[in-house]
Amino acid sequence: MGKELNSVSVEHTICPDIYHPAVARDGLLTRLRIPGGVLDTSQCLAIDHLLATTGLEYIQVTNRANLQLRALTGHIPTEVLIKLTDCGLAASNSAVDGIRNIMMSPTAGIDAQELIDIRPLAQAWHEYLSHHPELGILSTKFSVGFDGGGSVGIINRPNDITLLAVSDREFDLYLGIGDRGSAPLPVGVKLGLDECIPMLAAIAQSYRSGIELLGGDIRRKPRLRDIIRHWGLTGFSEIVQLEFTGSSHFIFKNLPISPISPPSPIPHIGVHRQSQSDRYYLGVVLLLGRWNRNQIEGLAEIAERYGNGTIRLTPWQNIILPDIQGIDLERVQALITDLDLIHTANHPSSLLRACAGSTGCKFGATYTQRDAIDLSNYLATKYKLDLPLSIHFSGCDRSCAQHDRADITLWGDDKSPDQSGHYRISIEGVPAAFERELSDLYSPAQVPIAIGKSIDAYHYQRLNLQESFRAFISRQSLSQLQQIFNVV
Ligand code: SF4
Repeated sequence: MGKELNSVSVEHTICPDIYHPAVARDGLLTRLRIPGGVLDTSQCLAIDHLLATTGLEYIQVTNRANLQLRALTGHIPTEVLIKLTDCGLAASNSAVDGIRNIMMSPTAGIDAQELIDIRPLAQAWHEYLSHHPELGILSTKFSVGFDGGGSVGIINRPNDITLLAVSDREFDLYLGIGDRGSAPLPVGVKLGLDECIPMLAAIAQSYRSGIELLGGDIRRKPRLRDIIRHWGLTGFSEIVQLEFTGSSHFIFKNLPISPISPPSPIPHIGVHRQSQSDRYYLGVVLLLGRWNRNQIEGLAEIAERYGNGTIRLTPWQNIILPDIQGIDLERVQALITDLDLIHTANHPSSLLRACAGSTGCKFGATYTQRDAIDLSNYLATKYKLDLPLSIHFSGCDRSCAQHDRADITLWGDDKSPDQSGHYRISIEGVPAAFERELSDLYSPAQVPIAIGKSIDAYHYQRLNLQESFRAFISRQSLSQLQQIFNVV
C-alpha cells in the first residue's frame, strides 16, 4: 500500500492523479487532468504558481493533452491543492479526478472543416462525471474522445471510447477493443446528438458493474477492453442496452477493419485560418511537451492580449493559441519566438517524442529525454526540413510516449556488450526482409550522426520535393540502407 503524504496518498499506481501521486525513479509523479485540453489564463497562472511552489523547472503536456509533473520531492501543499480545485484544475471530489480524461479535437469550434462543434458535449460529459462519484471505481486510464470530424482529428488516439462526427447531426461510436495502445474501433452504432451522453453514461455504468463483479486488485483495475473481453462484445452490448436511457436499440458488432490513415499530427502547427472571419489559430511546438514558467506566463499574456484568453493543449504535446486577428499575427509570432518556442511544422523538433526513459522509469534502458534533446540541438543547428519528420525515443519496447509508428524510432536496448544503454533504430518504410540486417546498436552519441546522415541522403537523393521520407526509404536497397545508417 502507499504511504500517507499530508492530504494526498502516495500509491505505486500506474496512472496517477493530483490526489494520488505515483512513486517513480526520479521522485513523485502527478498529473493534472485538463478536460478537453482547454486552459484559461487564470489556470495558467495557477500552474505557474504550482511550479513556483514545487521548485520544478517545467510542467509537461502529455499525449492525452493533460499536464504532468515529475521529480516532485515532496507533497503539494494543501493551499495549492485548494487553489487548483477552485480554478477547475482538480476535481472537488477526489474520487473522480483521475477519470476526467476527456479529449476533444484541439481545434473544436474553430475548425473550418469540422462537422459538429463538440465542445458542449465534452462539457456535458465532464459535468456528468462530476456528479457521479460512484464512477471513481473506474481505471484512471478511462478516457473518452470527441472528434468533430475536422482537420485535426483524434480518432486515432487510443481512447477507450470515441465519438466521431460523421454528419452534422450524427456520430459513430468507437470502442477501444483492440490491443493495448491501438486506436478504438467502430462497433456499428450511430448516435444522434442527444444520445451521446446517455450512451457514454450507459457504457461507464456497465464498466463499473463489471469491475464490481470481477473484483480483484483494486489498484490494478481492468481497462474497459478487459471488461468487454470478459462479457464478449455482444454480451457487453446487452448490458449497456439495459443501462441506456435513450430510445435506440443497438448491438455492438465487430466490423471489418478498414485501415484509417492516421491523421497527420502536423496540421495544427503554424498559422491556420479559422472558421470565423479574420481569426487565426497558431500551433506552437513545446519541445517534448515541456512548458517552463517563462513560457507559461508569456503564452498566457499573449492569449489574453491577442487571443480569447484561452490556450489549448493537444495530444501531440503541443499548444494552440486560438482567435488571433490577421493584423496581430506577425507580432504574436515574434513574441512566441522570443519565448524560445517554435511555430513551424518543418522544424526538426516539431515531431520529436520521448518517454520518461531511465531517468523516471525502471524499465528504461536509455536516457531518452536527454538523448532526444541532444538530437534536437544537433539537428536544429544543421538541418532545415522541408517536410516534417517524426522521431520517437522509447526507453523500452512498451512505447508509452507514442503508440503510432514514427518515421524513425529509437528503441532503448540494454543488450549492448557493456549494457551502457544503446539504441536500435526502426525506420518506417524499410522492407521487412531487411530489418534483421539493420539491427545494429547505436550509442547515444552515434544517434544524431545516423539520423543526420539519413536526412542528408533523403534531401540529396529523393525523386522530387513531394517524395516523403518513408517513400524514399522504401525504395532503397539493403546496401544503400546500410550505407545511409552506417556511422562507423
Ligand atoms: S516506454 Fe518503457 S522506459 Fe519508456 S516510460 Fe514506458 S515503460 Fe518506461
